Amino acid sequence: MKPDLLLMGPMFPPTQKVLEASYTVHKVWEAPDRDAFLASVADRITAVASTGGKGIDDATMGKLPKLKVISHFGVGVDSVDVDAVRRRGLALTNTPDVLTEDVADVALMLMLAAIRRVPQGDRYVREGKWLKGPMPLTRSLQDGKTVGIIGLGRIGKAIAKRCEAFNLKVAYQGRNKQAGVSYPYYADPLALAKDVDIIVVAAPGGAETRGMVSRAVMEALGPDGTIVNIARGSLIDEAAMIECLRDGKLGAAGLDVFDKEPAVPEALLALDNVVVQPHVGSATHPTRTAMGQLVIDNLAAHFAGKPLVTPHQ
Ligand code: NAP
Repeated sequence: MKPDLLLMGPMFPPTQKVLEASYTVHKVWEAPDRDAFLASVADRITAVASTGGKGIDDATMGKLPKLKVISHFGVGVDSVDVDAVRRRGLALTNTPDVLTEDVADVALMLMLAAIRRVPQGDRYVREGKWLKGPMPLTRSLQDGKTVGIIGLGRIGKAIAKRCEAFNLKVAYQGRNKQAGVSYPYYADPLALAKDVDIIVVAAPGGAETRGMVSRAVMEALGPDGTIVNIARGSLIDEAAMIECLRDGKLGAAGLDVFDKEPAVPEALLALDNVVVQPHVGSATHPTRTAMGQLVIDNLAAHFAGKPLVTPHQ
């Protein structure tokens, strides 16, 4: 008999297919009466698979008394109540490392696009404006700029490596100084913003980091400053960012993530100094496949009584 697995939301389809072949999968999002559905499966559920869009809260964990492990698709676990996981003595796994390089690529893609105005250039050609004259000049990455990375973790370090290849100086902010790193360290995001030209946000989402890129941080970055966010929309005070970009207090932004995504404020989309992407950091075939494999492997380890492959630290 196949073991039971509770899915909080739809998974990457090839991963879901594998899970459906190995487990009796219960799809919580399809249940018309969620509480009745959870009650009907609770005595069989030791494992849950969750996603960035469909995580799991404390109340739901409370309805699953036999729950032991949550296998999360994604490295950021802000859609899971991690405090509740710890308090309840549950195990949580995520999908680190396999997405690092793709996400770092998107950070550089957005930095280049925001500073060299890639979408604007594309539109300039398509709209026939080039026939009437050259596009206005842009800012450059090649005039001694410094990039400040908020959260120099796995992805932050991969972004730093790429920045060095683009002749950019690197500084960073985090709760701790990173071992084996010679980039200047700042404990305070505002102090970092005062000293750099571009900020790249690469720290985790969640209550602790909500709004840490504040109006003051953006104003310190200034009219020639650029913000790139590949982390979570919640880290930036989005309303203040829109005002700063609109009023010329912040130069440009390249954004992969938004506070209430997939809804993006009209006021942000109306601005010409913003480049947006629909949360595509890890959205490539090989990376999503590798992330799904980690979800599968962690669940297999749980059911085999073996150590989990990638426990969340
Ligand atoms: P990671 O290795 O855990 O790195 C996170 C870094 O943030 C660490 O260096 C950590 O250092 C720092 N940090 C933690 N709390 C902080 C705080 N309060 N203030 C400042 N820095 C803080 O994680 P990762 O694999 O690089 O992933 C980073 C984040 O990227 C994920 O949490 C996820 O939300 C996001 N992400 C986005 C996409 C996308 O598609 N756009 C894809 C993957 C991941 P300290 O502990 O020393 O502070």
